[in-house]
Amino acid sequence: MTAENNRIEENKKSLNFIELIVEKDLAEGKNNGRIQTRFPPEPNGYLHIGHAKAICMDFGIAQKYGGICNLRFDDTNPSKEEVEYVDSIMEDIQWLGYRWKNVFYASDYFPQLREFAVQLIKAGKAYIDEQSSEEIAKQKGTPTQAGTESPYRNRPVTENLELFEKMNSGEIPEGAMVLRAKIDMAAPNMHFRDPVIYRVIHHPHHRTGTAWKAYPMYDFAHGQSDYFERVTHSICTLEFEVHRPLYDYFIDELKQLHPEDGDYRTRQFEFNRLNLTYTLMSKRKLLQLVQDGLVNGWDDPRMPTITGLRRRGYTPESIRKFIDKIGYTKFEGIIDVALLEHSIREDLNIRAKRVSAVIDPVKLILTNYPEGQVEMMEAANNPEDESMGSHEIAFSRELFIEREDFMEDAPKKFFRMTPGQEVRLKNAYIIKCTGCKKDANGTVETIYAEYDPATKSGMPESNRKVKGTLHWVSAQHSIPAEVRLYDRLFTTENPGEEKEKDFRELLNPASLIVKTNCRVEKELEHAQPFEHFQFQRLGYFNVDPDSKEGKPVFNRTVSLKDSWSKIANKN
Ligand code: ATP
Ligand code: MG
Repeated sequence: MTAENNRIEENKKSLNFIELIVEKDLAEGKNNGRIQTRFPPEPNGYLHIGHAKAICMDFGIAQKYGGICNLRFDDTNPSKEEVEYVDSIMEDIQWLGYRWKNVFYASDYFPQLREFAVQLIKAGKAYIDEQSSEEIAKQKGTPTQAGTESPYRNRPVTENLELFEKMNSGEIPEGAMVLRAKIDMAAPNMHFRDPVIYRVIHHPHHRTGTAWKAYPMYDFAHGQSDYFERVTHSICTLEFEVHRPLYDYFIDELKQLHPEDGDYRTRQFEFNRLNLTYTLMSKRKLLQLVQDGLVNGWDDPRMPTITGLRRRGYTPESIRKFIDKIGYTKFEGIIDVALLEHSIREDLNIRAKRVSAVIDPVKLILTNYPEGQVEMMEAANNPEDESMGSHEIAFSRELFIEREDFMEDAPKKFFRMTPGQEVRLKNAYIIKCTGCKKDANGTVETIYAEYDPATKSGMPESNRKVKGTLHWVSAQHSIPAEVRLYDRLFTTENPGEEKEKDFRELLNPASLIVKTNCRVEKELEHAQPFEHFQFQRLGYFNVDPDSKEGKPVFNRTVSLKDSWSKIANKN
């Protein structure tokens, strides 16, 4: 953790290693100086912050070097893919601030891929295996021990062609046959040991319907799609590094079949995945959380999905800055989520309007303030940015303050509201607490205080030394609101890697606390979904789309306390 934190703090703004490669390729005139990338999501779930890292790379490289980036849906497994995911992926990329040149689908290439497979069969470089996947796995061998050749390996070409046709026509049940590339069962790279390149799936495809029954595997679709599209830099994550020789093998085969393509070549480069503490990046596990109802959908503000982060109040700028800070390396690590939280704080600090909200209200009566009198106090919208101006907030005899800001018998260091002590009410007066009234259970019902008319904000006397400043709203002039207090979704740093327990047992029971009794200043009456605010002293909040006219709902994006700065200063 600390080594990774140190690296991030020292991460100077030099080119990342992929940018260095691209600049070198440009200097050498590779692919005629053309830069083309792609972002290739499988539409089997919503995008998460890890994908944002890949998006910033793929689209960022194209942008920076005057190239193009296409969006390509890697839709080769119809049993897990849906149109809902396609739509959400497009929405999320655009929200992050990127524009693709074209939208492509790996399924567009099914005819070309089949043609390629047929050519390999004809060249004696692929065969139909009728063994079960378990048997095939058993014969794989180990990295130090050669595998065993399939008894079907030397089937005649005509038979292979015939069976491949049947795999596709629906005559062959799922799992009964696969097409394998015939490479080398003794190759040190396990991916060369006759990899499966086609399998049978009978589930209809979200785009091609029932036209196909034989579907290409990742290794037989990805690089080939890159090649058909004329991608120059195929950038992906480190787990594909071991696939790269196979990627190159099939590209070599394609190039032999297409001499007209000249010097063109696509190359694969890998960078480290993003892993974040206290959350998960596996789409399969995120889907389980959604399906089991452990979160409220893919856009639950606790989810690491782009749509979840958006609903939580994250801005595209904060996410892009975060990605920029963590950088790209060749080794796996886990990033402290405090850095992501730091990025949104930094961003909202400059853009969020300051308003007053009381989450757990208790009544405060200023006994010497004239009944019926209302004063409009001026409240700066953002002390960091004068150009954001100010707004008015109504002040009156009856206010609400935060219940935890009052203590009847307070210790010495308690600088908030307690009998006999002065506190400042933000943007208003200095007041002195005189006591409180409690109900039969001993719960404080009302707090009493007297205000000092000479201490109105801006008056000379208002500079009097008073240790505590409290936020407040006027009882009559505030509106009710619901506030959803979010915290980290998991209680452990790396829930996906926990050995003893299922990740679903590691959920933080306090990750969502709903407060339905809150009061917010009237200024927020017409706040629009996704608008950002700083609630004085409490944190950054944004308006949830669940809001109703007259009863807004706010999500806590992040509190004000920045644990990353502490980490950074310690280093
Ligand atoms: P799966 O777990 O289903 O394989 P995936 O997370 O790899 O999913 P894809 O849809 O295949 O999802 O990913 C699209 C692109 O995003 C790929 O290039 C992949 O390398 C990249 N990507 C996925 N997860 C991360 C991550 N955590 N950090 C950086 N890039 C990622
Ligand atoms: Mg993947």
